[in-house]
Amino acid sequence: MNNSMMQQSLTINSLIEHANRYHGSTEIISVETNRDLTRTNWSGIHNNALRLSSALEKLGLSKGDRIATIAWNNRRHLELYFGVACNGMVCHTINPRLFPEQLIYIMNHAQDKALFIDATFVPLVAKLQDKLDKLEHIVLMGPRDEEAVTAIAGLKFYDELLDAAVSDFAWAAVDENTPSSLCYTSGTTGHPKGVLYTHRTTVLHSMGGNQPDGLAISAMDSVLPVVPMFHVNAWGVPYIAAGVGCKLVCPGPGLDGASLVKLIDDEKVTLALGVPTIWQGLLAALKETGSKVESLKRTVVGGSALPPSMIATFRDDYNVDLIHAWGMTETSPLGTMNQLLQKHTNLSTDEQATLRLGQGRAPYGVEMRLVDLDGNVLPNDGETQGALQIRGHWIIDTYYLAEESALTDDGWFDTGDIATIDADGYMIIRDRAKDIIKSGGEWISTVELENIAIAHPKVASAAVIAAPHEKWDERPVLIVVPAEGQSPTEQELLAFFKDKVATWQIPDKALLVETLPLGGTGKILKSKLREEYGNVLS
Ligand code: AMP
Repeated sequence: MNNSMMQQSLTINSLIEHANRYHGSTEIISVETNRDLTRTNWSGIHNNALRLSSALEKLGLSKGDRIATIAWNNRRHLELYFGVACNGMVCHTINPRLFPEQLIYIMNHAQDKALFIDATFVPLVAKLQDKLDKLEHIVLMGPRDEEAVTAIAGLKFYDELLDAAVSDFAWAAVDENTPSSLCYTSGTTGHPKGVLYTHRTTVLHSMGGNQPDGLAISAMDSVLPVVPMFHVNAWGVPYIAAGVGCKLVCPGPGLDGASLVKLIDDEKVTLALGVPTIWQGLLAALKETGSKVESLKRTVVGGSALPPSMIATFRDDYNVDLIHAWGMTETSPLGTMNQLLQKHTNLSTDEQATLRLGQGRAPYGVEMRLVDLDGNVLPNDGETQGALQIRGHWIIDTYYLAEESALTDDGWFDTGDIATIDADGYMIIRDRAKDIIKSGGEWISTVELENIAIAHPKVASAAVIAAPHEKWDERPVLIVVPAEGQSPTEQELLAFFKDKVATWQIPDKALLVETLPLGGTGKILKSKLREEYGNVLS
Protein backbone atom coordinates (compact mmCIF):
# COMPACT_ATOMS: atom_id res chain seq x y z
CA MET A 1 0.00 0.00 0.00
CA ASN A 2 1.13 3.52 -0.71
CA ASN A 3 1.92 5.24 2.61
CA SER A 4 2.60 8.66 1.21
CA MET A 5 -0.27 10.18 3.18
CA MET A 6 -1.64 9.49 6.65
CA GLN A 7 -4.70 7.35 6.94
CA GLN A 8 -6.82 8.27 9.94
CA SER A 9 -10.12 6.71 10.90
CA LEU A 10 -13.28 8.70 10.21
CA THR A 11 -14.75 8.47 13.72
CA ILE A 12 -17.30 10.35 15.77
CA ASN A 13 -14.56 10.49 18.43
CA SER A 14 -12.58 12.76 16.13
CA LEU A 15 -15.55 15.15 15.85
CA ILE A 16 -16.03 15.64 19.60
CA GLU A 17 -12.27 15.73 20.17
CA HIS A 18 -12.01 18.54 17.63
CA ALA A 19 -14.83 20.43 19.40
CA ASN A 20 -13.07 20.00 22.74
CA ARG A 21 -9.64 21.00 21.43
CA TYR A 22 -10.56 24.06 19.39
CA HIS A 23 -14.03 25.13 20.52
CA GLY A 24 -14.02 24.01 24.15
CA SER A 25 -15.53 27.24 25.48
CA THR A 26 -18.26 27.54 22.83
CA GLU A 27 -21.63 27.39 24.52
CA ILE A 28 -24.17 24.60 24.50
CA ILE A 29 -27.58 25.72 25.74
CA SER A 30 -30.05 23.17 27.03
CA VAL A 31 -33.70 23.53 27.96
CA GLU A 32 -34.22 20.81 30.55
CA THR A 33 -37.35 18.75 30.91
CA ASN A 34 -38.49 20.94 33.83
CA ARG A 35 -37.96 23.96 31.50
CA ASP A 36 -34.87 25.25 33.37
CA LEU A 37 -32.22 26.54 31.00
CA THR A 38 -28.67 25.32 31.59
CA ARG A 39 -25.40 26.29 29.94
CA THR A 40 -22.40 24.15 29.28
CA ASN A 41 -19.80 24.12 26.49
CA TRP A 42 -18.11 21.66 24.15
CA SER A 43 -15.46 20.82 26.77
CA GLY A 44 -18.23 20.08 29.26
CA ILE A 45 -19.97 17.80 26.75
CA HIS A 46 -16.68 16.05 25.94
CA ASN A 47 -15.82 15.58 29.59
CA ASN A 48 -19.26 14.19 30.46
CA ALA A 49 -19.25 11.95 27.38
CA LEU A 50 -16.02 10.36 28.67
CA ARG A 51 -17.54 9.93 32.14
CA LEU A 52 -20.62 8.40 30.57
CA SER A 53 -18.51 5.88 28.63
CA SER A 54 -16.83 4.91 31.87
CA ALA A 55 -20.22 4.64 33.64
CA LEU A 56 -21.55 2.37 30.88
CA GLU A 57 -18.58 0.05 31.30
CA LYS A 58 -19.15 0.01 35.06
CA LEU A 59 -22.72 -1.12 34.38
CA GLY A 60 -21.24 -4.12 32.58
CA LEU A 61 -22.07 -2.89 29.08
CA SER A 62 -19.60 -3.47 26.32
CA LYS A 63 -18.70 -2.83 22.70
CA GLY A 64 -21.56 -3.33 20.25
CA ASP A 65 -24.31 -3.12 22.91
CA ARG A 66 -27.33 -1.05 21.96
CA ILE A 67 -28.02 1.80 24.38
CA ALA A 68 -31.47 3.30 23.80
CA THR A 69 -32.72 6.81 24.47
CA ILE A 70 -36.22 8.23 24.71
CA ALA A 71 -35.45 11.88 25.22
CA TRP A 72 -35.84 15.49 24.12
CA ASN A 73 -33.11 17.60 22.61
CA ASN A 74 -31.01 18.46 25.66
CA ARG A 75 -27.39 18.34 26.76
CA ARG A 76 -27.53 14.92 28.40
CA HIS A 77 -28.89 13.50 25.16
CA LEU A 78 -25.97 15.16 23.35
CA GLU A 79 -23.55 13.57 25.83
CA LEU A 80 -25.18 10.20 25.10
CA TYR A 81 -24.69 10.66 21.34
CA PHE A 82 -20.93 10.86 21.93
CA GLY A 83 -20.43 8.89 25.15
CA VAL A 84 -22.16 5.82 23.70
CA ALA A 85 -20.68 5.83 20.19
CA CYS A 86 -17.13 6.90 21.04
CA ASN A 87 -16.70 3.83 23.21
CA GLY A 88 -17.87 1.46 20.49
CA MET A 89 -21.51 1.09 21.57
CA VAL A 90 -24.60 1.94 19.52
CA CYS A 91 -26.86 4.86 20.40
CA HIS A 92 -30.40 3.78 19.57
CA THR A 93 -32.63 6.87 19.60
CA ILE A 94 -36.33 6.09 19.89
CA ASN A 95 -39.30 8.21 18.85
CA PRO A 96 -41.67 8.38 21.86
CA ARG A 97 -44.58 9.25 19.57
CA LEU A 98 -44.70 5.76 18.11
CA PHE A 99 -47.49 3.47 19.25
CA PRO A 100 -46.63 1.39 22.37
CA GLU A 101 -46.64 -1.88 20.37
CA GLN A 102 -44.12 -0.36 17.96
CA LEU A 103 -41.93 0.82 20.84
CA ILE A 104 -41.91 -2.67 22.33
CA TYR A 105 -41.20 -4.24 18.94
CA ILE A 106 -38.32 -1.85 18.26
CA MET A 107 -36.62 -2.25 21.64
CA ASN A 108 -36.89 -6.03 21.55
CA HIS A 109 -35.74 -6.21 17.95
CA ALA A 110 -32.72 -4.04 18.74
CA GLN A 111 -32.14 -6.00 21.97
CA ASP A 112 -31.44 -2.77 23.82
CA LYS A 113 -29.57 -3.42 27.05
CA ALA A 114 -29.94 0.01 28.61
CA LEU A 115 -32.55 2.73 28.19
CA PHE A 116 -31.98 6.41 29.05
CA ILE A 117 -35.15 8.47 29.47
CA ASP A 118 -36.25 12.00 30.25
CA ALA A 119 -38.70 12.49 33.13
CA THR A 120 -41.57 13.10 30.66
CA PHE A 121 -41.40 9.46 29.60
CA VAL A 122 -41.39 7.78 33.03
CA PRO A 123 -45.12 6.88 32.85
CA LEU A 124 -44.72 5.55 29.28
CA VAL A 125 -41.71 3.39 30.13
CA ALA A 126 -43.27 2.17 33.41
CA LYS A 127 -46.06 0.63 31.31
CA LEU A 128 -43.70 -1.00 28.79
CA GLN A 129 -40.98 -2.16 31.17
CA ASP A 130 -42.23 -5.72 31.67
CA LYS A 131 -42.34 -6.39 27.94
CA LEU A 132 -38.75 -5.43 27.20
CA ASP A 133 -36.86 -8.72 27.00
CA LYS A 134 -33.22 -7.75 27.09
CA LEU A 135 -33.32 -4.52 29.01
CA GLU A 136 -30.97 -4.53 32.03
CA HIS A 137 -30.89 -0.87 33.04
CA ILE A 138 -33.27 2.08 32.91
CA VAL A 139 -31.63 5.42 33.63
CA LEU A 140 -33.42 8.70 34.28
CA MET A 141 -31.58 11.57 32.62
CA GLY A 142 -31.25 13.84 35.65
CA PRO A 143 -30.57 13.83 39.39
CA ARG A 144 -32.15 11.33 41.82
CA ASP A 145 -35.94 11.52 41.83
CA GLU A 146 -37.69 9.48 44.53
CA GLU A 147 -41.10 9.72 42.88
CA ALA A 148 -39.79 8.19 39.66
CA VAL A 149 -38.31 5.26 41.63
CA THR A 150 -41.79 4.30 42.74
CA ALA A 151 -42.91 4.11 39.09
CA ILE A 152 -39.92 2.17 37.73
CA ALA A 153 -38.30 -0.44 39.92
CA GLY A 154 -34.51 -0.38 39.91
CA LEU A 155 -34.36 3.02 38.19
CA LYS A 156 -30.86 4.54 38.01
CA PHE A 157 -29.93 8.19 37.70
CA TYR A 158 -27.71 9.76 35.07
CA ASP A 159 -26.15 12.35 37.35
CA GLU A 160 -25.31 9.75 39.99
CA LEU A 161 -23.75 7.46 37.40
CA LEU A 162 -21.57 10.29 36.12
CA ASP A 163 -20.59 11.38 39.64
CA ALA A 164 -19.34 7.88 40.34
CA ALA A 165 -17.53 7.52 37.01
CA VAL A 166 -13.78 7.43 36.48
CA SER A 167 -12.61 10.96 35.72
CA ASP A 168 -9.54 10.12 33.60
CA PHE A 169 -11.24 7.62 31.31
CA ALA A 170 -9.93 7.45 27.73
CA TRP A 171 -11.58 5.99 24.64
CA ALA A 172 -9.85 3.09 22.98
CA ALA A 173 -9.28 3.42 19.23
CA VAL A 174 -12.49 2.76 17.31
CA ASP A 175 -12.48 1.36 13.79
CA GLU A 176 -14.36 3.65 11.41
CA ASN A 177 -16.67 0.86 10.29
CA THR A 178 -17.94 0.28 13.84
CA PRO A 179 -21.72 0.82 14.16
CA SER A 180 -22.46 4.05 16.06
CA SER A 181 -26.18 4.71 16.02
CA LEU A 182 -29.46 3.05 15.14
CA CYS A 183 -32.76 4.58 14.00
CA TYR A 184 -35.94 2.81 12.98
CA THR A 185 -38.15 3.92 10.12
CA SER A 186 -41.61 5.06 11.10
CA GLY A 187 -43.15 1.88 9.67
CA THR A 188 -46.52 3.09 8.37
CA THR A 189 -46.80 -0.34 6.74
CA GLY A 190 -45.43 -3.45 8.44
CA HIS A 191 -42.91 -3.40 11.26
CA PRO A 192 -40.46 -0.52 11.63
CA LYS A 193 -37.06 -1.34 10.15
CA GLY A 194 -33.70 -0.46 11.69
CA VAL A 195 -31.01 1.54 9.93
CA LEU A 196 -27.60 1.08 11.54
CA TYR A 197 -25.17 3.93 10.84
CA THR A 198 -21.42 3.64 11.32
CA HIS A 199 -18.76 6.12 12.45
CA ARG A 200 -17.58 6.42 8.86
CA THR A 201 -21.02 7.07 7.32
CA THR A 202 -21.77 9.58 10.08
CA VAL A 203 -18.56 11.54 9.52
CA LEU A 204 -18.96 11.52 5.73
CA HIS A 205 -22.59 12.62 6.13
CA SER A 206 -21.45 15.46 8.39
CA MET A 207 -18.86 16.65 5.91
CA GLY A 208 -20.92 16.06 2.76
CA GLY A 209 -24.13 17.50 4.20
CA ASN A 210 -22.45 20.59 5.58
CA GLN A 211 -20.91 21.90 2.38
CA PRO A 212 -21.63 25.55 1.45
CA ASP A 213 -24.51 24.41 -0.77
CA GLY A 214 -25.81 22.21 2.06
CA LEU A 215 -26.45 23.15 5.67
CA ALA A 216 -23.38 25.42 5.61
CA ILE A 217 -23.05 25.56 9.41
CA SER A 218 -19.95 27.45 10.59
CA ALA A 219 -18.30 28.30 13.90
CA MET A 220 -20.03 31.69 13.60
CA ASP A 221 -23.46 30.09 13.92
CA SER A 222 -25.79 29.60 16.84
CA VAL A 223 -27.79 26.56 15.76
CA LEU A 224 -31.21 25.46 16.99
CA PRO A 225 -32.11 21.90 15.96
CA VAL A 226 -35.86 21.78 16.51
CA VAL A 227 -35.86 18.51 14.60
CA PRO A 228 -35.82 15.94 17.39
CA MET A 229 -32.67 14.04 18.30
CA PHE A 230 -34.90 10.95 18.06
CA HIS A 231 -35.60 11.60 14.39
CA VAL A 232 -32.67 10.47 12.22
CA ASN A 233 -30.08 11.89 14.63
CA ALA A 234 -31.57 15.39 14.36
CA TRP A 235 -30.54 15.30 10.68
CA GLY A 236 -26.91 14.87 11.78
CA VAL A 237 -26.75 18.35 13.30
CA PRO A 238 -25.14 17.32 16.63
CA TYR A 239 -22.22 15.70 14.76
CA ILE A 240 -21.88 18.60 12.31
CA ALA A 241 -22.00 21.06 15.22
CA ALA A 242 -19.12 19.27 16.96
CA GLY A 243 -17.12 19.14 13.72
CA VAL A 244 -17.40 22.90 13.16
CA GLY A 245 -17.62 24.00 16.82
CA CYS A 246 -20.74 26.13 16.54
CA LYS A 247 -22.94 27.21 19.43
CA LEU A 248 -25.76 24.69 19.87
CA VAL A 249 -29.16 25.47 21.37
CA CYS A 250 -31.16 22.41 22.46
CA PRO A 251 -34.85 23.33 22.89
CA GLY A 252 -35.91 20.46 25.19
CA PRO A 253 -39.65 19.82 25.21
CA GLY A 254 -40.58 23.44 24.40
CA LEU A 255 -41.41 23.13 20.72
CA ASP A 256 -44.34 25.55 20.63
CA GLY A 257 -43.94 28.75 18.64
CA ALA A 258 -43.73 31.11 21.63
CA SER A 259 -40.97 29.11 23.38
CA LEU A 260 -38.98 28.92 20.15
CA VAL A 261 -39.26 32.65 19.47
CA LYS A 262 -37.94 33.40 22.97
CA LEU A 263 -35.07 30.96 22.60
CA ILE A 264 -34.11 32.34 19.17
CA ASP A 265 -34.10 35.92 20.49
CA ASP A 266 -32.32 35.12 23.80
CA GLU A 267 -29.62 32.90 22.30
CA LYS A 268 -29.14 34.85 19.05
CA VAL A 269 -29.93 31.79 16.97
CA THR A 270 -28.75 32.19 13.36
CA LEU A 271 -29.93 28.86 11.95
CA ALA A 272 -32.89 26.69 12.96
CA LEU A 273 -33.92 23.35 11.48
CA GLY A 274 -37.23 21.49 11.57
CA VAL A 275 -40.33 20.16 9.83
CA PRO A 276 -42.89 22.49 8.21
CA THR A 277 -45.47 22.23 11.02
CA ILE A 278 -42.92 23.60 13.50
CA TRP A 279 -42.40 26.68 11.33
CA GLN A 280 -46.13 27.19 10.97
CA GLY A 281 -46.26 27.38 14.78
CA LEU A 282 -43.28 29.71 14.86
CA LEU A 283 -44.72 32.05 12.21
CA ALA A 284 -48.01 32.26 14.13
CA ALA A 285 -46.13 33.07 17.36
CA LEU A 286 -44.05 35.72 15.58
CA LYS A 287 -47.21 37.45 14.44
CA GLU A 288 -48.53 37.39 17.99
CA THR A 289 -45.38 38.56 19.77
CA GLY A 290 -44.25 41.04 17.12
CA SER A 291 -40.69 39.69 17.35
CA LYS A 292 -38.70 40.01 14.14
CA VAL A 293 -36.22 37.25 15.11
CA GLU A 294 -33.43 39.63 14.07
CA SER A 295 -30.60 37.15 14.66
CA LEU A 296 -32.16 34.39 12.52
CA LYS A 297 -30.60 34.19 9.05
CA ARG A 298 -31.63 30.74 7.81
CA THR A 299 -34.09 27.95 8.46
CA VAL A 300 -33.79 24.47 7.02
CA VAL A 301 -37.10 22.74 6.37
CA GLY A 302 -37.54 19.09 5.49
CA GLY A 303 -39.29 15.86 6.42
CA SER A 304 -42.39 16.62 4.38
CA ALA A 305 -43.35 18.90 1.52
CA LEU A 306 -42.90 22.62 1.98
CA PRO A 307 -46.06 24.76 1.92
CA PRO A 308 -45.49 27.07 -1.09
CA SER A 309 -46.04 30.37 0.76
CA MET A 310 -43.47 29.67 3.46
CA ILE A 311 -40.37 30.80 1.53
CA ALA A 312 -41.91 34.21 0.78
CA THR A 313 -43.22 34.72 4.33
CA PHE A 314 -39.82 34.05 5.90
CA ARG A 315 -38.05 36.16 3.27
CA ASP A 316 -40.35 39.18 3.14
CA ASP A 317 -41.48 39.44 6.76
CA TYR A 318 -38.35 38.30 8.61
CA ASN A 319 -35.45 38.43 6.16
CA VAL A 320 -34.82 34.72 6.72
CA ASP A 321 -33.57 32.44 3.94
CA LEU A 322 -35.47 29.16 3.87
CA ILE A 323 -33.60 26.10 2.62
CA HIS A 324 -35.66 23.11 1.58
CA ALA A 325 -34.10 19.69 2.17
CA TRP A 326 -35.16 16.12 1.50
CA GLY A 327 -34.08 12.88 3.04
CA MET A 328 -35.12 9.76 4.86
CA THR A 329 -33.98 7.49 7.67
CA GLU A 330 -32.28 5.29 5.08
CA THR A 331 -30.21 8.23 3.80
CA SER A 332 -28.83 9.40 7.19
CA PRO A 333 -30.92 11.61 6.24
CA LEU A 334 -29.46 14.40 4.09
CA GLY A 335 -30.19 13.46 0.46
CA THR A 336 -30.78 16.79 -1.25
CA MET A 337 -30.69 20.45 -0.27
CA ASN A 338 -31.94 23.33 -2.33
CA GLN A 339 -29.47 26.12 -3.06
CA LEU A 340 -29.23 28.07 -6.29
CA LEU A 341 -26.55 27.92 -8.97
CA GLN A 342 -24.46 30.83 -10.18
CA LYS A 343 -26.55 31.06 -13.34
CA HIS A 344 -29.68 31.71 -11.24
CA THR A 345 -28.40 34.95 -9.73
CA ASN A 346 -30.09 37.02 -12.46
CA LEU A 347 -33.51 35.46 -11.96
CA SER A 348 -36.22 37.50 -10.25
CA THR A 349 -36.91 36.83 -6.57
CA ASP A 350 -40.11 35.02 -7.48
CA GLU A 351 -38.40 32.84 -10.07
CA GLN A 352 -35.73 31.95 -7.54
CA ALA A 353 -38.38 31.11 -4.95
CA THR A 354 -40.13 28.81 -7.44
CA LEU A 355 -36.88 26.94 -8.05
CA ARG A 356 -36.24 26.67 -4.33
CA LEU A 357 -39.64 25.14 -3.65
CA GLY A 358 -38.33 21.83 -4.96
CA GLN A 359 -36.32 19.44 -2.81
CA GLY A 360 -32.97 20.46 -4.31
CA ARG A 361 -29.72 18.97 -5.52
CA ALA A 362 -27.60 16.09 -4.25
CA PRO A 363 -24.40 17.09 -2.44
CA TYR A 364 -21.09 15.41 -3.29
CA GLY A 365 -21.39 11.89 -1.92
CA VAL A 366 -24.92 11.20 -3.16
CA GLU A 367 -26.16 10.19 -6.63
CA MET A 368 -29.79 9.96 -7.75
CA ARG A 369 -31.64 8.48 -10.70
CA LEU A 370 -35.22 7.89 -11.83
CA VAL A 371 -36.51 4.56 -13.12
CA ASP A 372 -39.82 3.35 -14.56
CA LEU A 373 -41.79 0.34 -13.37
CA ASP A 374 -39.53 -2.00 -15.37
CA GLY A 375 -36.36 -0.54 -13.92
CA ASN A 376 -35.40 1.42 -17.07
CA VAL A 377 -33.50 4.60 -16.29
CA LEU A 378 -35.53 7.72 -17.21
CA PRO A 379 -34.28 11.08 -18.49
CA ASN A 380 -33.47 14.00 -16.17
CA ASP A 381 -35.64 16.46 -18.06
CA GLY A 382 -37.63 17.93 -15.18
CA GLU A 383 -40.82 16.45 -16.65
CA THR A 384 -40.57 12.67 -16.60
CA GLN A 385 -41.73 11.19 -13.30
CA GLY A 386 -40.20 7.99 -11.99
CA ALA A 387 -39.20 6.06 -8.91
CA LEU A 388 -36.38 7.91 -7.15
CA GLN A 389 -33.33 5.75 -6.47
CA ILE A 390 -30.23 6.83 -4.60
CA ARG A 391 -26.74 5.64 -3.73
CA GLY A 392 -23.79 7.16 -1.91
CA HIS A 393 -21.46 7.21 1.06
CA TRP A 394 -24.19 7.49 3.72
CA ILE A 395 -27.04 5.50 2.14
CA ILE A 396 -28.38 2.21 3.55
CA ASP A 397 -27.32 -1.16 2.18
CA THR A 398 -29.09 -3.67 4.46
CA TYR A 399 -31.69 -3.06 7.19
CA TYR A 400 -30.58 -3.98 10.70
CA LEU A 401 -30.55 -7.78 11.12
CA ALA A 402 -32.16 -8.31 7.71
CA GLU A 403 -30.82 -11.19 5.68
CA GLU A 404 -30.90 -9.53 2.32
CA SER A 405 -29.59 -6.27 0.98
CA ALA A 406 -32.23 -3.57 0.45
CA LEU A 407 -30.63 -2.57 -2.85
CA THR A 408 -31.47 -3.24 -6.48
CA ASP A 409 -29.29 -5.74 -8.33
CA ASP A 410 -27.16 -2.88 -9.61
CA GLY A 411 -26.67 -1.33 -6.18
CA TRP A 412 -29.25 1.47 -5.82
CA PHE A 413 -31.73 2.08 -2.99
CA ASP A 414 -35.32 2.67 -4.08
CA THR A 415 -36.67 5.49 -1.90
CA GLY A 416 -40.36 4.80 -2.46
CA ASP A 417 -40.73 8.39 -3.65
CA ILE A 418 -41.87 9.43 -7.12
CA ALA A 419 -39.87 12.38 -8.41
CA THR A 420 -38.61 14.40 -11.35
CA ILE A 421 -35.00 15.51 -11.79
CA ASP A 422 -34.02 18.30 -14.17
CA ALA A 423 -30.86 18.69 -16.22
CA ASP A 424 -29.14 20.60 -13.39
CA GLY A 425 -29.98 17.82 -10.94
CA TYR A 426 -32.83 19.63 -9.14
CA MET A 427 -35.15 16.97 -7.77
CA ILE A 428 -38.83 17.47 -7.00
CA ILE A 429 -40.80 14.90 -5.01
CA ARG A 430 -44.11 14.37 -6.75
CA ASP A 431 -45.52 11.77 -4.39
CA ARG A 432 -44.90 8.64 -2.38
CA ALA A 433 -45.10 5.65 -4.73
CA LYS A 434 -47.89 4.15 -2.64
CA ASP A 435 -49.90 7.41 -2.52
CA ILE A 436 -49.79 8.55 -6.15
CA ILE A 437 -53.11 8.34 -7.99
CA LYS A 438 -53.21 6.27 -11.15
CA SER A 439 -56.15 7.59 -13.11
CA GLY A 440 -56.79 6.07 -16.54
CA GLY A 441 -53.11 5.22 -17.01
CA GLU A 442 -51.99 8.75 -16.03
CA TRP A 443 -50.46 9.75 -12.71
CA ILE A 444 -51.87 12.48 -10.50
CA SER A 445 -49.67 13.90 -7.75
CA THR A 446 -51.44 14.13 -4.41
CA VAL A 447 -48.77 16.58 -3.21
CA GLU A 448 -49.60 19.04 -5.99
CA LEU A 449 -53.32 18.90 -5.22
CA GLU A 450 -52.69 19.29 -1.47
CA ASN A 451 -50.52 22.35 -2.07
CA ILE A 452 -53.35 23.98 -4.00
CA ALA A 453 -55.93 23.06 -1.37
CA ILE A 454 -53.97 24.48 1.58
CA ALA A 455 -53.62 27.79 -0.23
CA HIS A 456 -57.43 28.19 0.08
CA PRO A 457 -58.13 30.69 2.87
CA LYS A 458 -60.81 28.49 4.42
CA VAL A 459 -58.52 25.43 4.64
CA ALA A 460 -56.23 24.63 7.60
CA SER A 461 -54.82 21.35 6.30
CA ALA A 462 -55.60 18.91 3.53
CA ALA A 463 -54.84 15.45 2.22
CA VAL A 464 -55.63 13.88 -1.12
CA ILE A 465 -56.06 10.13 -1.47
CA ALA A 466 -56.65 7.69 -4.28
CA ALA A 467 -60.16 6.24 -4.20
CA PRO A 468 -60.87 3.16 -6.35
CA HIS A 469 -63.01 4.06 -9.36
CA GLU A 470 -64.88 1.78 -11.72
CA LYS A 471 -63.87 3.48 -14.95
CA TRP A 472 -60.57 5.23 -14.19
CA ASP A 473 -59.10 2.74 -11.66
CA GLU A 474 -58.42 5.53 -9.18
CA ARG A 475 -59.60 9.09 -8.77
CA PRO A 476 -58.49 11.81 -6.31
CA VAL A 477 -60.55 12.60 -3.23
CA LEU A 478 -59.79 15.71 -1.21
CA ILE A 479 -60.05 15.59 2.58
CA VAL A 480 -59.96 18.95 4.31
CA VAL A 481 -59.69 20.26 7.85
CA PRO A 482 -61.34 23.68 7.64
CA ALA A 483 -59.66 26.77 9.09
CA GLU A 484 -61.09 27.85 12.45
CA GLY A 485 -64.67 29.03 12.19
CA GLN A 486 -64.93 28.18 8.46
CA SER A 487 -67.07 25.64 6.66
CA PRO A 488 -66.24 25.75 2.95
CA THR A 489 -68.66 23.98 0.59
CA GLU A 490 -67.53 21.09 -1.56
CA GLN A 491 -68.28 23.15 -4.63
CA GLU A 492 -66.09 26.08 -3.64
CA LEU A 493 -63.21 23.78 -2.68
CA LEU A 494 -63.28 21.95 -6.01
CA ALA A 495 -63.74 25.19 -8.00
CA PHE A 496 -60.46 26.41 -6.46
CA PHE A 497 -58.53 23.88 -8.59
CA LYS A 498 -59.84 25.32 -11.87
CA ASP A 499 -57.03 26.60 -14.10
CA LYS A 500 -54.44 25.44 -11.56
CA VAL A 501 -54.31 21.83 -12.81
CA ALA A 502 -55.66 19.99 -15.84
CA THR A 503 -59.42 19.43 -15.54
CA TRP A 504 -59.02 15.65 -15.34
CA GLN A 505 -56.76 16.05 -12.30
CA ILE A 506 -59.34 17.94 -10.20
CA PRO A 507 -60.58 15.75 -7.32
CA ASP A 508 -63.94 14.04 -7.77
CA LYS A 509 -65.00 14.76 -4.24
CA ALA A 510 -64.16 16.92 -1.22
CA LEU A 511 -64.88 15.94 2.38
CA LEU A 512 -64.58 17.96 5.57
CA VAL A 513 -63.08 16.33 8.67
CA GLU A 514 -62.06 17.61 12.11
CA THR A 515 -58.53 16.21 12.13
CA LEU A 516 -56.22 14.21 9.91
CA PRO A 517 -54.62 11.06 11.38
CA LEU A 518 -50.89 11.51 12.00
CA GLY A 519 -48.20 8.84 12.34
CA GLY A 520 -45.37 8.81 14.86
CA THR A 521 -43.26 11.31 12.93
CA GLY A 522 -46.08 13.77 12.39
CA LYS A 523 -46.78 12.76 8.79
CA ILE A 524 -50.36 12.28 7.61
CA LEU A 525 -51.31 8.59 7.66
CA LYS A 526 -52.71 8.24 4.17
CA SER A 527 -53.15 4.50 4.66
CA LYS A 528 -55.67 5.25 7.46
CA LEU A 529 -57.47 7.78 5.30
CA ARG A 530 -57.68 5.31 2.44
CA GLU A 531 -59.13 2.71 4.81
CA GLU A 532 -61.73 5.15 6.05
CA TYR A 533 -62.67 7.11 2.93
CA GLY A 534 -61.39 4.88 0.13
CA ASN A 535 -64.85 3.76 -0.95
CA VAL A 536 -66.56 7.15 -1.23
CA LEU A 537 -66.70 6.91 -5.02
CA SER A 538 -68.01 3.39 -5.29
P1 AMP B 1 -38.48 9.36 7.26
O1 AMP B 1 -37.63 8.19 6.98
O2 AMP B 1 -39.48 9.15 8.36
O3 AMP B 1 -37.64 10.59 7.49
O4 AMP B 1 -39.37 9.65 5.96
C1 AMP B 1 -38.79 9.86 4.71
C2 AMP B 1 -39.83 10.31 3.70
O5 AMP B 1 -40.34 11.60 4.06
C3 AMP B 1 -39.26 10.50 2.32
O6 AMP B 1 -39.16 9.31 1.61
C4 AMP B 1 -40.26 11.47 1.71
O7 AMP B 1 -41.38 10.79 1.21
C5 AMP B 1 -40.68 12.31 2.88
N1 AMP B 1 -39.94 13.58 2.85
C6 AMP B 1 -38.82 13.91 3.51
N2 AMP B 1 -38.45 15.17 3.22
C7 AMP B 1 -39.34 15.65 2.33
C8 AMP B 1 -39.49 16.89 1.64
N3 AMP B 1 -38.65 17.90 1.81
N4 AMP B 1 -40.52 17.00 0.79
C9 AMP B 1 -41.38 15.99 0.58
N5 AMP B 1 -41.31 14.80 1.22
C10 AMP B 1 -40.29 14.63 2.08
